[in-house]
Order: sequence, then structure tokens, then C-alpha cells
Amino acid sequence: MKHKKRKKNHKFTKFLILVTFIIMIIGLYKTGKITTEVSANAEEVNNVIEKEYEVEEEILLVNKYNPLPEDYKVELTEYDNHLVSKEIIDELEKMYKDAKKDGVNLNINTAYRDKKEQQEILDRRIKLYASEGLTQKEAKKKALTEVQLPGCSEHETGLAIDFSNPSKPEDNEPMWIWLEENSYKYGFILRYPKDKTEITNVSNEDWHYRYVGKETAKEMKEKNECLEEYLA
Ligand SMILES: [Zn+2]
Repeated sequence: MKHKKRKKNHKFTKFLILVTFIIMIIGLYKTGKITTEVSANAEEVNNVIEKEYEVEEEILLVNKYNPLPEDYKVELTEYDNHLVSKEIIDELEKMYKDAKKDGVNLNINTAYRDKKEQQEILDRRIKLYASEGLTQKEAKKKALTEVQLPGCSEHETGLAIDFSNPSKPEDNEPMWIWLEENSYKYGFILRYPKDKTEITNVSNEDWHYRYVGKETAKEMKEKNECLEEYLA
């Protein structure tokens, strides 16, 4: 009998331990819940950071104050007889198709070029202005508002495209109008808008488009920001 009672007591103790354990678990769960939420938040934060990192990785700022890293590598592919970054090819193709549906023929005049070509373009431009009567210093200054220094041109990233058609100049205006209205849907932005020349330090270029990704392009369009403003 005593033994039985002890057994009963033992069972009761077990029960108590169990209840305590459950209460502890509930307590821990409550704390744990907060911890879970925190870790979920941490995860979200991580995702955001990763996302931002991705976006930032995608949005490379290249201008005279931000030259391309020396070891910058771009994977190129050909589109419309021009070399462009592989990164932009899908959206570029879509954009071409949709423009066509709207009766607009997109045409690439220049896309990727390397440092050497960039230098040649700059030299030619300086020469041109010098031949027009500017001093070498003035010619260089003027040329640099239109042509970037080698290493500082977006064209070296393969992400920039000059849309124009030298053999059919009458196509240019409709092309630029269409692009200004629609390019953001495909992740392209007008890089040097008329009203931002003081910020970009580059004269207005209706033809120069830069791929930044769809989300960014949309946001920039909504905020009416150029890349320098957007990344500031
Ligand atoms: Zn350009």
C-alpha cells in the first residue's frame, strides 16, 4: 500500500514535472516566438540587404568621378550587329519586339566599346573642337561634356546603348519618344536627361540608354531621378 502510494506520489511528481515542463515550454515558446520573429525579421533584413546588394551590384554608377574598376569584366553577346552585355539581352529583345508592334524601329548605333575605342572617340572630338578654333584646353573641356574619359564611359560596361539610325535619321525622333515613354518597362533609363545635365555633368543625349533593371528603372521614372540622384 505504502509502496503504491509512493508510486502514486511518484506519478504525481512526474505529472508536476510534466506540467512545469509544459509551462516552461509555453514560457520559452513565448520568448521563442519573439526570437522567431526577430530571426524572421533578421531574415527579412538579410533578404533586403541581399536584394539591395543585388540591385547595387546591378546598378553600377559610371561617370567621371566613378571610373570602372580596373578588373571589371563583362560578358558580351551580339545583338542587332552590336556587342552588348549578356545581362540585358532578354529585355532588349522584348523592347525591340514591343516597339515594333507600336510601329517603331529601334536601332542601335553604338553599344559596347572598350577603353581604347573610347580614347579614340575622345581624341577625335577634342581634335574637332580644336579645329573649330578652341584652344586645346577648351576643346578638351567641351569634348569631355560629351564624351567620357576612357574608363568612365558606361559603354564599357555593355549596359549602355546609343539608339539612333544614322542611315535613317527620320527614325530617330519617334525612336527617342517611344524609348522615353516605354524603356523603363524593360529596365532601361534615359541616362542624361535634359533637366539633369547639371547633375550628370553630361549634355543631354536623347539616344543614350542605360540598363539598370526593371524595378530600378520604374522607381527612377516615378521619382524623375537620374542615376546620380537615385544612388545618392
Ligand atoms: Zn552613349
